[in-house]
Amino acid sequence: MSNCSDAIDKLYYLGPESGISGLNRSDFAIEIKVDEINRTLTICDNGIGMSESELENNLGVIAQSGSLQFKSEKDLGEDINIIGQFGVGFYSAFMVADKVEVFTRSYKEEQAFCWVSRGAEGYDIKPCEKASRGTEVVLHLKKDTEEENYSRFLEEYEIRNLVKKYSDYLRYPIKMLVTKYTEASEETPATPYKAEETLNSMVPLWNKKKSEISKETYSSFYRNDFGDYEAPIRIIHYRVEGKVDYKALLFVPSHAPFDF
Ligand code: ADP
Repeated sequence: MSNCSDAIDKLYYLGPESGISGLNRSDFAIEIKVDEINRTLTICDNGIGMSESELENNLGVIAQSGSLQFKSEKDLGEDINIIGQFGVGFYSAFMVADKVEVFTRSYKEEQAFCWVSRGAEGYDIKPCEKASRGTEVVLHLKKDTEEENYSRFLEEYEIRNLVKKYSDYLRYPIKMLVTKYTEASEETPATPYKAEETLNSMVPLWNKKKSEISKETYSSFYRNDFGDYEAPIRIIHYRVEGKVDYKALLFVPSHAPFDF
């Protein structure tokens, strides 16, 4: 998902100079699709996409980061926040998938390409059909074993948690079809239906207004990010504007760390 965000940021940055006009932040999204029958997890973006040679260089070569290169070649303003730099993150897909397919179309080209790999044996690249620019990564999940339950990555609950934990502040919406329930009444029970939902909050907690943040939200942020089991004893959140502007979000733990 960080790669999707980078791909969108790049297009947002390059759009004007490459003749694509009228790009709005609101046109961009990251989408997660789950196929329980075929055991695939698909992550799509409508960002910059990759050409055939970019597929070779960026995905075919470990420790090659197109994003780091992009960052070092361009003078990016504050508006652009490219995350990638090591060129190894993509391969973590093979920790959970035994086959990975990448369907991608560069914003500069009509022809799309598909990159397929089963990990160690290398990869194949072929032309393919893709209606719109951007990238779609399909993870074919490994079979469950006694030690590892890969099927959990198809569960809504697990995906929600992962997005919250690692991608909550990506600035583009991460959308997924989720199960919701109609309101029950005396005559009809609640019935499930599918609806699209944005899973990430996009704006970091410290950038939100104090009045919009519940105590539970502060507390779960603190516990998740700082690995404490207990809620903080004190929360201090303020902004200072003047010669120097800053925002501060401070937590006082309920107990001192054991090594303190
Ligand atoms: P990193 O993100 O640290 O550079 P990765 O191994 O995750 O490393 O990705 C390698 C490169 O592949 C990226 O730098 C980028 O150039 C390209 N890439 C990966 N995912 C996408 C995507 N969804 N869209 C466009 N390019 C991508």
